[in-house]
Amino acid sequence: MIIVLKPSATEEQITKFTNKLKESYDVKVNKWDGVQSTVLGLIGDTTKIDIEYIDAQDIVENVKRVQEPYKKANRKFHPDNTVIKINDNVTIGDGSLHIMAGPCSVESEEQIVQIAKDVKASGATLLRGGAFKPRTSPYAFQGLKAEGLDLLKTARRETGLPIVTEIMRASHIDMFENVDIIQVGARNMQNFELLKELGKIDKPILLKRGLSATIEEWLMSAEYIMAGGNDKVMLCERGIRTYETFTRNTLDISAIPIIKKLSHLPVIVDPSHASGKSWLVEPLAMAAVAAGADGLIIEVHNDPPHALSDGAQSLTPKQFDGVAKKVFGLKKAVDKL
Ligand code: PEP
Ligand code: MN
Repeated sequence: MIIVLKPSATEEQITKFTNKLKESYDVKVNKWDGVQSTVLGLIGDTTKIDIEYIDAQDIVENVKRVQEPYKKANRKFHPDNTVIKINDNVTIGDGSLHIMAGPCSVESEEQIVQIAKDVKASGATLLRGGAFKPRTSPYAFQGLKAEGLDLLKTARRETGLPIVTEIMRASHIDMFENVDIIQVGARNMQNFELLKELGKIDKPILLKRGLSATIEEWLMSAEYIMAGGNDKVMLCERGIRTYETFTRNTLDISAIPIIKKLSHLPVIVDPSHASGKSWLVEPLAMAAVAAGADGLIIEVHNDPPHALSDGAQSLTPKQFDGVAKKVFGLKKAVDKL
């Protein structure tokens, strides 16, 4: 962290400020006396320093971080990739490619069990399905809630596929005990109280990127979970808001290699929510695999025109089969390069 002091700062003020920094944050402080002003360089773990507190001090002209404010999610402090074992068949982050597939919302036993069987036959290794749905309209289908969780478990019993489903509030954590991966949706990426509670459990978390979150904000949200002791975090790029209205969101492909560089956490890509259009799922899924994603999460519905949510972006099981063939084929080719 670099702190530029105002030219008016006196030697006494500088000494007092420097001593306070050393005592409060256990950092080394280097001082350079320039012609115009004095510059302080803080060396050590500066992640816990509140940059706004520093900026608010009378003698400070400006302050800049030269190190990332996240530590546990940072590849600098954890060079090896994080590998998350879900069960004997599914390990994420080890160089293999996994597809989480299933409907946006769980609608009935027949629906979820049939889709689970279909996507499994096409190579999906995890079943997705929303039981608690964050909908823009309070009048839209809100999910089957606890019953939806039970139906996901039925589908898991029938197929062996581990289940991924979204949590919306911390008080529901006990209900999610038997879920394999807990999804935190885009709208809750900065629900810090929820993230803190998820930090206390030993369960893989799929953290979706917020609608307008920067990469650093997203990593700071992962840091919230990890700071509590849960380091099983996967990051999900699901498109961000831009000025483009053709697609539901804009898939930020560059986020994949950027996250891989900055962090050791696995990256999952959601081409369904990124595009909002079923015909765009295949090319976006291919691009994500080529860019190094560890997995994909894709919406599949047995009857998209009658889906209770996100029908327009849902693939039929047959379409999903075609997409899965292509992405697994591409993955083989990419691994040979
Ligand atoms: C979903 O996965 O159905 C969902 C609501 O996703 P997101 O939080 O990315 O909008
Ligand atoms: Mn959806």
